[in-house]
Amino acid sequence: MKRRKFLTKAALATAGVSSLVACASKEESSKGPYINFNNTYRWKMTTTWPPNFPVVGEGCKHLAGWVKEMSGGRMEITVYGGGELIPALEGFDAVSNGAVEMNHGAAYYWAGKVPAAQFFAAVPFGMNASQMGSWIISGGGSQLWEELYEPFNITPILCGNTGIQMGGWYNKEINSIADLQGLKMRIPGLGGKVLAKAGGTPVLVSGGEIYTNLERGVIDATEWIGPFHDYLMGFHEVAKHYYYPGWHEPGAALEMVISKPKFDALPSDLKEIIRTACYRLNRWMGAEFDARNGVYLKKIMEETEVSVKPFPKEVLEPLKGFAKEALRELTEQDPQSKKVFDAFNVFRENVGGWMNVSERIYYESLM
Ligand code: CA
Repeated sequence: MKRRKFLTKAALATAGVSSLVACASKEESSKGPYINFNNTYRWKMTTTWPPNFPVVGEGCKHLAGWVKEMSGGRMEITVYGGGELIPALEGFDAVSNGAVEMNHGAAYYWAGKVPAAQFFAAVPFGMNASQMGSWIISGGGSQLWEELYEPFNITPILCGNTGIQMGGWYNKEINSIADLQGLKMRIPGLGGKVLAKAGGTPVLVSGGEIYTNLERGVIDATEWIGPFHDYLMGFHEVAKHYYYPGWHEPGAALEMVISKPKFDALPSDLKEIIRTACYRLNRWMGAEFDARNGVYLKKIMEETEVSVKPFPKEVLEPLKGFAKEALRELTEQDPQSKKVFDAFNVFRENVGGWMNVSERIYYESLM
């Protein structure tokens, strides 16, 4: 309330100066030069996450709170978990047709509609979280992303990253690529295509059903996110082999998609407030994932019977080859995917050269 009063005063002061009239009429002064401080915007944000989902769903509620504070109460965003207002994976369409103003999720969910969107979420053996952020923010990625969504009346903003994920939970040891033959695994997106090339069967299972399917042997393996979320799902009770790294999601970027006409029509300060809140959430999520995964990895290693281990080279090398094949097929079929993946690769090569002499050599020196 205090902030709102302050803003109203500030608006009055500015209006007074710009009109050069000492005693501006009440009507004139309340309008202000650019911004109408009396308008309140009430927006709806759907999400692809289950209601009250830790970190990502939680973060969306923080964002609504930050926007309300920063705007002095002029912008109120109501956040809905998946299924609360619309089904979890219909957010893109809902924003596109204007039914809701915003949706938080990950770009690979729209692969059926916009195949090239997957490059803005996760690419098997692709860039990690910090590299994805650099590409999107400073490497021309955001322009390509905006171009891709423009026909749908949508503006995308980078808004979170899970960090590198874990390679998943298995009911047996994976010592060679042959061990993936016939394996039924819950693994979505491009990662699933790669598994299929290795002779496995990617299965679509919704979050709520994974535990039971794994317990009953309907599936042999699953990936989810990282130690924190995986522990909350209880996978350590039904699978004993927990592998890393998450080659299929080396740094899954998350997105806020916004109705372009509604965003463009906002006063300039509210646009900046939304952008600022998205960037804050982007960093907040990365920090939360790192902090909580550290604690829960230790918990899994020390308090459960699970064996936590890396995939052997004999598994990762062929998977890398299959990933190249899957990506080549995608870019041959879809010109937009080719354009985006070409740009992705140019950036990856440049940033990779730098990472080789900075991060990589540093981590190796610690081992
Ligand atoms: Ca995952």
